[in-house]
Amino acid sequence: MSLPKFHIKKNDLVMVTTGKEAGKSGRIMKVLSEKEKVIIEKINFIKRHSRPHGQHRRGGIIEKEAPLHISNVMLLCEKCNKPVRIGHRILEGGKKARYCRKCGEIFDK
Ligand SMILES: [Zn+2]
Repeated sequence: MSLPKFHIKKNDLVMVTTGKEAGKSGRIMKVLSEKEKVIIEKINFIKRHSRPHGQHRRGGIIEKEAPLHISNVMLLCEKCNKPVRIGHRILEGGKKARYCRKCGEIFDK
């Protein structure tokens, strides 16, 4: 489920625009709509210590993507090769699609 107020969906290519990961881009792995955060593939890694469970697993340090606030990322237009503002339009057949306001590229085909 995605809320209409979010322009970003799972599998979108986005660029981080603020914070220590600014300028990096990746695919959205997950949208946490209630928290207004997104998890982006290979971005914003945090180190976590995992506790050993049971006899056979060892504890250690694992790296994991931490969520970023949705306002810190922008959809990346592959045609413009930069983060862009997006608009919405209704396609033939009534389907709602997002498009790049710069080049007109439709993101939801
Ligand atoms: Zn574009």
